[in-house]
Amino acid sequence: MKVFIDYIRSLFLLELLKGLQLTGRYLCSKKFTLQYPEERAPLSPRFRGLHAQRRYDSGEERCIACKLCEATCPALAITIEAAPREDGSRRTTRYEIDLFKCIFCGYCEESCPVDAIVESRVYEYCFENRGENIMTKEKLLAHGDKYEVQLAKDLEAQAPYR
Ligand code: SF4
Ligand code: SF4
Repeated sequence: MKVFIDYIRSLFLLELLKGLQLTGRYLCSKKFTLQYPEERAPLSPRFRGLHAQRRYDSGEERCIACKLCEATCPALAITIEAAPREDGSRRTTRYEIDLFKCIFCGYCEESCPVDAIVESRVYEYCFENRGENIMTKEKLLAHGDKYEVQLAKDLEAQAPYR
């Protein structure tokens, strides 16, 4: 019986007609394709893009070199060296994130007690030379300075869920 039904189906091209019916339905429906880069998809405040280091309004860097982010990073992507400054405060002398190792899990951001290390909305970046995959402290701070307004807004939006 099954063989007979299959024969009838193939004789009248029923599978083909079913496929064309589906194509026709999507032909007239709303399109979801975005014309990137002219059009962009909306991003969540919790989007985990390129990292940044933030400062206080005074210009002082937030990071207190507690190394919680380094300890919590599952990919061992963060390297920190620290030393006390002349005023007795503790700051990093080296803070690096290896983007080749990073899996963008966001644990570093979650573990930071002073909201120093964060992940921005930036996802368009590439590396052309060896070593550019290392986000140094200078690069992180510069990135934070550039996007501070958006970073602060995103952290505020996340506050009820943290
Ligand atoms: S996002 Fe995750 S993997 Fe990347 S540096 Fe932070 S903790 Fe490590
Ligand atoms: S970024 Fe935050 S968690 Fe990491 S060392 Fe600095 S203060 Fe500690």
